Amino acid sequence: MNIPKQIPKEAREMAGFISLVIDESTNRHSASVIDTGIRCFKKKCFGTIKSEFLAENDEIHWWCTKCNNGGTISGWQGSRWNNM
Ligand SMILES: [Zn+2]
Repeated sequence: MNIPKQIPKEAREMAGFISLVIDESTNRHSASVIDTGIRCFKKKCFGTIKSEFLAENDEIHWWCTKCNNGGTISGWQGSRWNNM
């Protein structure tokens, strides 16, 4: 994936973050919660990111252990970060 320079810095950081979550999650694919060790990207948050695979639709659900940051990633199977 090429990340164009004209998109906002935040969006680029988000894309980098999502790729890390896919990389870590698919490395340690398990039925339970995965501790990715990735730092939360929210300012002043020192939480780390956990993830899990949602069985019903194969999305990766991720969330921060300290703040309410979180989301889901779909379509990761076709990405270059898929280690499965
Ligand atoms: Zn956080």
